Amino acid sequence: MQSTMMNAPLSLNHLLERAGRLFAGNEIVSRRPDKSLVRHSYGEFYRRTRALASALQGLGLRQGDRVATLCWNHHAHLECYFGIPAAGGVMHTLNLRLAPEEIGWIADDAQDRFLVIDDVLLPLYEQFKHRYTFEQVIVYPFSGGQALPKGMLDYEALLAGADPDGLVYALHDENDPVAMCYTSGTTGRPKGVVYSHRSTVLHSLVGSLPDFCSVHGSDVVLPVTPMFHANSWGMPYMAVMMGAKLVFPGPHMHPDDLLDLMTAEPPTLALGVPTIWMTLIQTYDASLKTGAANAGRWKLPTGLRSLVGGAAVPEALIRAFDAHGIWIMQGWGMTETSPVATISYPRAELRGASADEKYRRAAMAGVPVPLVELRARGDDGSDQPWDGHSVGEIQVRGPFITGSYHEVGSPADKFTEDGWLRTGDVASVDALGFVKISDRTKDLIKSGGEWISSVDLENALMAHPSVAEAAVIAIPDEKWSERPLACVVLKPGEQATPDQLDALLLDKSFAKWQLPERYEFIDAVPRTSTGKFWKLKLRERFPH
Ligand code: ADP
Repeated sequence: MQSTMMNAPLSLNHLLERAGRLFAGNEIVSRRPDKSLVRHSYGEFYRRTRALASALQGLGLRQGDRVATLCWNHHAHLECYFGIPAAGGVMHTLNLRLAPEEIGWIADDAQDRFLVIDDVLLPLYEQFKHRYTFEQVIVYPFSGGQALPKGMLDYEALLAGADPDGLVYALHDENDPVAMCYTSGTTGRPKGVVYSHRSTVLHSLVGSLPDFCSVHGSDVVLPVTPMFHANSWGMPYMAVMMGAKLVFPGPHMHPDDLLDLMTAEPPTLALGVPTIWMTLIQTYDASLKTGAANAGRWKLPTGLRSLVGGAAVPEALIRAFDAHGIWIMQGWGMTETSPVATISYPRAELRGASADEKYRRAAMAGVPVPLVELRARGDDGSDQPWDGHSVGEIQVRGPFITGSYHEVGSPADKFTEDGWLRTGDVASVDALGFVKISDRTKDLIKSGGEWISSVDLENALMAHPSVAEAAVIAIPDEKWSERPLACVVLKPGEQATPDQLDALLLDKSFAKWQLPERYEFIDAVPRTSTGKFWKLKLRERFPH
């Protein structure tokens, strides 16, 4: 017997058509380099996106050709998200925070044909153009104040000259590619992950479910996560699918600027990495102190839900936001997993739980989202029980998890023989399915045959009222093989001694042997290109 269901391919084009028809009046707000706000309706977004697709086809874009973007978060970047696949192309978001040489290497590896770039990023392009030549460079006049360099195309002129009604969507299969993104390359060269119509639509459906991001058409969504960081965690697709209002911060990621934007256009759903949220809440709380320079300038939107992930979210951060009526949902994932693979949410079983227990759970990576299978594998290759303390490497599989890498294939250190993705994250899973990440394999500290979780130490240290940031790394030790070194950033004008920090850790049930060997008080923890703590730099700075 066969099913009687239609075999309609999953397609981003459907989401675009739907948005144009149903949500034409909804708004997309973008912050420009001069900090002014520009507003587009979904109706305009729909027509402009179709015009972009038409124009790309007119330029000779062929099925499967890569179109790179080097852009901040704004409406034209969103147009690329849908317009490039509509023309049959693959959008490749380049990370503007990488070193120019690396950007050139990545464009070369992906064999990008065209580039769409913000005018304000042309100086960056100048630094890597010797490394790779695009066939066409299309400049989006984001600041509007730059002369178009010779030989380049103007994005707005291209759209104005194209016919949105004349677009014929490129024929495609649901497994055809729509976007690609490179891993950060913290271990070896960056590797390309290629998403399909199918994987992107399924990830959007799952991510917007009520227990996960719960994206509503009535939401105001603020994606602080860059659109080049795992496609802003897929949120632009989810927002367009549901017709939610979008507010894009443009190039302004400073906490003052984000707070200004949140005050002017209060979001109901916002997302970003913990480091950004940490500085934001510290800036906001400082503004509430009597006599503060910024007193009364900002209002945090009560009831805001915030998806925070990309690195462990300290419980102290969750509590600090909750004090203002803002709930942080922690998500875990990777570029390879589209990226949302687990989300922490208040499960029914926790209804009667104490506040402490709810915070404790919220500080975990969460439970696997539908369609994602997850297991923790011990060193001996056996599945670890879901008992909340047995740890193993997290391995995942599912329809929006990558099964290989562009050009590299499926190396044995990244995939198991039975086809699961090896995440390199070490974690335990409890009976309710909550994953608790201890570390990345390379960040775990092996002391006298026992593992110490740097994440646990960091989270505990960041609960100290004087501590702004803490990052813990391993240093070599003759006797114990490795010992923890805690790099601590104090809040302005605050003090804390190693003894006080040790006392806090002991109070939080750490054993004596788990305490840091040493504390280094530093000005700031270095950040990676996606805004996470960059432990590699700390290891270089403190080799012993
Ligand atoms: P990179 O961090 O290398 O730039 P990704 O953005 O793909 O690349 O990051 C994936 C990694 O981020 C995961 O393997 C994991 O180590 C870390 N990560 C993501 N979310 C969390 C989380 N909620 N808790 C702890 N670690 C996380």
